[in-house]
Amino acid sequence: DPTTQPALAVALPLRADLIGEVPYGAPQLDVPHLLNVNENPYAPPAEVVADIAESVAAAAAGLNRYPDRDFPALRQDLADYLAAESGARDLEVANMWAANGSNEVMLHLLQAFGGPGRSVMSFAPTYSMYPEYARDTFTRWVAGTRRPDFSLDPAQTIAQIENERPAVVLLASPNNPTGTALDVATIDAIASATANTGPDGAASVLVVDEAYAEFRRDGTPSALSILARHPHLAVSRTMSKAFAFAGARLGYLAAAPDLVDALRVVRLPYHLSAVTQAVARAALRHRAVLQAQVAQLRTERDATVSWLREQGFTVADSDANFVLFGRFDDRHVIWQGLLDRGVLIRETGPSEYLRVSIGTAEEMAAFRGALKEVTGR
Ligand code: PMP
Repeated sequence: DPTTQPALAVALPLRADLIGEVPYGAPQLDVPHLLNVNENPYAPPAEVVADIAESVAAAAAGLNRYPDRDFPALRQDLADYLAAESGARDLEVANMWAANGSNEVMLHLLQAFGGPGRSVMSFAPTYSMYPEYARDTFTRWVAGTRRPDFSLDPAQTIAQIENERPAVVLLASPNNPTGTALDVATIDAIASATANTGPDGAASVLVVDEAYAEFRRDGTPSALSILARHPHLAVSRTMSKAFAFAGARLGYLAAAPDLVDALRVVRLPYHLSAVTQAVARAALRHRAVLQAQVAQLRTERDATVSWLREQGFTVADSDANFVLFGRFDDRHVIWQGLLDRGVLIRETGPSEYLRVSIGTAEEMAAFRGALKEVTGR
């Protein structure tokens, strides 16, 4: 019986650059207050759940067939949503792309525009997955620098890009883990300067990762407002945060049709399941009720920033659904103390800082109480 025989000792031919690497993993612990991965704390309301369930049932009736590879209906719905949310009225199906989370959208971008002999540049501290997309696409990772307040100086940023000549530039706005939003004039200046800073005189593809855009404070326009003027600009978004839809896995992007066509070349066939397409369209129909929750989270975020500052902490300005605060000589002790009190936050970013995701009012009260106990303030 082959199942009872001992396994032969073999060496697996693991790629040299993957030896010792571990999978991405924020701890998934079972504690009362999960404030560690920037999730939306509000489960979908009953009416949204009902519409999703009905949409899944309808999709299920056709699951013997492969899904629509190009999902034009979902792309149109996403374009309509961006028109309503950001005033981006000239977007059409050909401008839109989507995948299983914006993680996969980013991977498509690097599969199409990165690769051996090329580099991708971003500005630290920034989203911890970016170097992994680089590694997985054999693209060299280059981390440029920010100002001490985590903002980007346009001239210095452009100088760093001109020096490196990357195929792709990733700018998260609002940035994770700092919460820093970029003003549109900065993005516009960087976009104008990167029209020929890529390989062989081509542009650097400039990706503005707006995963948290819906949480931005009033008066900060989206990079979508300058998309039409820059054919090498791509703006990515996700339904994971504002739509409280992290479990569904739907990220998307808007860009010029030529850029989108390049992504269509590298995607796996039928990468977006019929169920995913259906549930995303259902959630998009309920954006009004979901956006009310975003407004609540923004209010709670601003209150959290104010409270932390009143306690004497250093707090980065945040346009996202999380807040970076410090400074701690030993942040791990604080993190552990909070966890011991049922509050899970994240040890990420600069070593003296911690990041807390914005939860419900009750969860933030638990966070404040626990932090006071742990720090003795
Ligand atoms: N970009 C940034 C800046 C993020 O923080 C995240 C999620 N933590 C993502 C992209 C990916 O989100 P998703 O794959 O769920 O769309």
